[in-house]
Amino acid sequence: MDTRLETVTRLAQPHRRAILVALLWLTVAAGLLFAVLNLIYGSAILAMAELLMVVYAGALLLVVQVTQYIERWIVAFVLPFFCVMMFALTVPRASASIFAWVLVIPVLSHLLLGRRQGLIIALLFLTIAAVIFFIKHGDNPELMQALPIANIVLISLCILSFSHVYEMSREKSELTLLRMAQTDFLTGLANRARFKDSFEREKQRALRENQPMSLLVIDLDYFKSVNDRFGHETGDKALVYVADLLTRRLRATDQVCRLGGEEFGVILVDTNAELAAQVAEHMRHSLETEPFILGGQTIALTMSIGLAEFRHDGDSLRSLLGAADQRLYQGKAQGRNQVIGRVSEADDSSLNTSAIVG
Ligand code: GH3
Ligand code: MG
Ligand code: MG
Repeated sequence: MDTRLETVTRLAQPHRRAILVALLWLTVAAGLLFAVLNLIYGSAILAMAELLMVVYAGALLLVVQVTQYIERWIVAFVLPFFCVMMFALTVPRASASIFAWVLVIPVLSHLLLGRRQGLIIALLFLTIAAVIFFIKHGDNPELMQALPIANIVLISLCILSFSHVYEMSREKSELTLLRMAQTDFLTGLANRARFKDSFEREKQRALRENQPMSLLVIDLDYFKSVNDRFGHETGDKALVYVADLLTRRLRATDQVCRLGGEEFGVILVDTNAELAAQVAEHMRHSLETEPFILGGQTIALTMSIGLAEFRHDGDSLRSLLGAADQRLYQGKAQGRNQVIGRVSEADDSSLNTSAIVG
């Protein structure tokens, strides 16, 4: 599954669960009613199929409220549900009006399965229903006229396309809202929430592929005095400048975020502590030698960087941020404008032996 689809599916889980629960209750109620009616009017096989659906829906009601795998249960219910519906269409005694039920297929399949799978399943069952309709009513001159057929086809297409467009725009606005919630308003960088998501994803990849990974915590030096001397607005522009510089210095696969205030975090994928120290030093040097210039005024900025390596310094974001933070403050205490990382593999447990790189 691609990341976008994964996110869309994860976001949709609560409302799909609610829709499935509503559908299951409806199935229990309507299934019981139709089973009784079909028993009275002599369609025993259909009544049995409906009763089976009632029992199945009842059992699923217990499962779907608690399961983590709601997508699987949706498929496990929707497919037999539509199949029973198709079977009901074939029953000779059923009137032509039963085909009206087919119109719920595009709505339900989009709401429950999303835009891609929903469209495929809707098209599949609408086609089957159309075939059944023509086999069953092909010799009915009243129904086999251009006007009723055009009405049925057009209303089906309308409901199908509205369901599809609705689901597409719902997914899109949900993703937009998520992105807004995970983006730092000032710099446009990822915020802590997205940083955490990226870390968890990269951590799984690093474990799977047995790759190293490092984390940097960056803090601008004496930034309060930038605000004091040049004003808060200029301070804001300086933060945007630093965010751009960090982004330009990193690979597309690395993730940089604004942890808050004048602090930034960086995940360096496939990078051990040694290489990470070089990358960090490169960034530190870039900021030192490329000052922020605004309105002819040169504003010198420097940064202190603390480094931590996945596995060696911990395997959670919390522990890695903790280790990198400690080193960062060691760098502050030692005079700022420096990178503090681990010295060597031989003595990787002690923070006291950290090196000043650069
Ligand atoms: P140090 O070298 O010890 O880190 O000194 P510092 O002045 O950078 O650190 P301190 O924590 O004392 O101050 C951080 C400053 O960053 C104070 C605050 O006004 C400024 N700051 C935090 N967020 C923003 C922001 O969004 N915009 C602006 N302009 N300034 C900010
Ligand atoms: Mg600072
Ligand atoms: Mg700070």
